[in-house]
Amino acid sequence: MEKRELKVFEDTVQGYVVDLMLMRLGRWLRLLGQDVANPVGESDEELLHLAKKESRTIITRDKGLFKACPGADVQCVLIQSSAISDQLLEMADAGVPLRLDPQRCTLCNGLLEEIEMLGTKKWQCLDCKKLYWEGGHWKKMERILQAIRRQRKENAQQTGNANATENHIQAKG
Ligand SMILES: [Zn+2]
Repeated sequence: MEKRELKVFEDTVQGYVVDLMLMRLGRWLRLLGQDVANPVGESDEELLHLAKKESRTIITRDKGLFKACPGADVQCVLIQSSAISDQLLEMADAGVPLRLDPQRCTLCNGLLEEIEMLGTKKWQCLDCKKLYWEGGHWKKMERILQAIRRQRKENAQQTGNANATENHIQAKG
């Protein structure tokens, strides 16, 4: 188990693009330090084109789009869940570390610059100038992530038990 956790944390930042249905997940991924482009247009073709051009992995709940990705030489993560916490679990399985990492603006995906304001560490978006700091909102998100990490650990243990008894094995993907 410890090894698995380690492997996850070694993973580097990847480029993603979410479809319009998953914008909330996209903003969360930015909070986790991931580079998530805003979708341009609404068609699958436009998404595939952007993903290919910028070497981004598409994140979608659309099975049709998922199936179109190999033909377009684009990587894709198919999200099964509708709840944001379950979607984040799925992204953790895809290698995204579940910890806050202020690198990207949640609004515009611009790069954040660390600044010091009145003795407090803050981050400012280089593009839209939005400010971020470790306030109440931040702590709330930390708690949400903590709960998801706990859930993930429990799931892993359950899967281990299920494999041992050959019961309740969940096939994914
Ligand atoms: Zn911004």
